[in-house]
Amino acid sequence: MRRLTVLGQDPGFSDRRGVVTVQVEIPRERLAPGPHGARFHVVDCDASTQTLYEPANANGEDPFADVTDVQRLVDSRLFHAQNVYGTAMETLCRYERGLGRRVPWSIPGGSLERAANGRGHVLKIAPHAFSEANAYYSRRDEGVLFGYFPSRAASGSKRSQTVFTCLSHDVIAHETTHAVLDGLRPRYTDPSSDDQAAFHEGFADVFALLSAFRHTRVVSAAFPDTPRSIPPRALTAESLRRSALTGLAEQLGAELGSIRGDPLRSSVQIQPSATLYTSAEYMEPHKRGELLVAAVMNAFLAVWAKRLRPLQGESGKQSVARARVVEEGAAAADHVLTMAIRALDYAPPVNIDFHDYLTALLTADHECYPDDSKYAYRQALVEWFGKYGIEPVREHHSPEPGTWSAPERPLSYRRSHFHSLTHDPDEAFHFIWENREALGIYPDAFTYVPAVNRSVKVDVDGFAVQETFIQYVQILGLEARELRKIGVRAPNGMPRTQALTLHGGGVLVFDEFGRLKFHVGSGVNSRKQTDRLESLWAHGFFRHERQTQRRFAELHRARAMANTRFREERW
Ligand SMILES: [Zn+2]
Repeated sequence: MRRLTVLGQDPGFSDRRGVVTVQVEIPRERLAPGPHGARFHVVDCDASTQTLYEPANANGEDPFADVTDVQRLVDSRLFHAQNVYGTAMETLCRYERGLGRRVPWSIPGGSLERAANGRGHVLKIAPHAFSEANAYYSRRDEGVLFGYFPSRAASGSKRSQTVFTCLSHDVIAHETTHAVLDGLRPRYTDPSSDDQAAFHEGFADVFALLSAFRHTRVVSAAFPDTPRSIPPRALTAESLRRSALTGLAEQLGAELGSIRGDPLRSSVQIQPSATLYTSAEYMEPHKRGELLVAAVMNAFLAVWAKRLRPLQGESGKQSVARARVVEEGAAAADHVLTMAIRALDYAPPVNIDFHDYLTALLTADHECYPDDSKYAYRQALVEWFGKYGIEPVREHHSPEPGTWSAPERPLSYRRSHFHSLTHDPDEAFHFIWENREALGIYPDAFTYVPAVNRSVKVDVDGFAVQETFIQYVQILGLEARELRKIGVRAPNGMPRTQALTLHGGGVLVFDEFGRLKFHVGSGVNSRKQTDRLESLWAHGFFRHERQTQRRFAELHRARAMANTRFREERW
């Protein structure tokens, strides 16, 4: 491993020692100038000024290890390159640690590789891509692009005159998460339900928020005026929300905050109400994503407060050392983040909704930690998702309420070879074909296996939990009048000859003995298709199909605009 200095949050975030920098611990690799490693290539190319800058050489020791002068960091292009590389690597490593395997990118990898039907291994990062208050992941550009814009801070202040989005932990973590999620679940950017459109945004924010707790100095800085020990009244979930989350937000540079930071933390303040989930206001994707953030973050705060209770003595009146409060927060955040990451493996590869994701969260945790009684992570999640109107999927034979259940119909393993099944898409497809009736998979749709993954995690008793995840995707082209034959209802008013393309799919989870534990999702003929078509029809998707394929760039721009309306600012 090696250590690299990056900003804990952004250049405006400081404590008594000055700007909060942290050293991230990432795998050492043989870098080319850029830095350019096996997973990321930092390309300092500015489209607005048509400039290609000198690449940074990051092979030596950490050149910014002892720098406390924030201006020196903000002024150094080399530091910017190190900051994006270090933070993006840390983000990727966090996913790989959670999943117990490498994470692929969903990028074509240039014209040569495209011709060879390959996938790129190296994601590009452009720290100064354009002069605009935006940053986004782009599959087409095979990378993550960060913008910069003039600061509106009063002249004469110590702050830099330019705001760089590549210096914000939240923005880098959020954008890298889009890339990771797109690699694991490339179909989540397809037009589908309101939830699927919102999931990318909400999930990226959950990661950015929870990963802020990874370094104790960052969390500690959120309690700026607190003495060494914290009284019990400040240790409730409600107080922690005000101090740790809102405290962090207030410290963040207001200008960066208006792109991503403010809505990020204000989502935690959405008053719980089960009607929000079905309200018109929360149908809009990033607004809807905030519901996911609110549910996960409030559950995290509940667990954090619960972890602090035994430390307040039997009377519950003892103060707790600040360092200990921070440590318990870091431990709770780490556990919730692991659940959030592992849940992706138990989520359907197409047409995800928030009910699916909650069920996947509970299942992922249950598989490694069957006993939830100590800190009640799953209980807190069920409770808080419920407060925002999101219940787990109702399954009949779940090992625990709220988790996925084992398949009900007996399956045939006779003609399958388990060893091949753990890595070979053709063998996986063979298994699906043999069992299509028992699995309820429609046979006449184009069906393929995009990924077969093995994952090894450590159980609570110290043993390895080995699982194989087989994804399958189905695509079916038909006209609206043919929907009935696969049990799907056409939306009211849709012409009978309307041409449609249906997507379906699922993930099969096998245990270490090669037996199917869970079948999550379903083929093109699921009940969900009716809802998905309703939603797309209501949004006018079929009337102007091309325009509605929103890209992250537009989503983020829309989000920045939505904020400025409230703040009466214009970019
Ligand atoms: Zn985003």
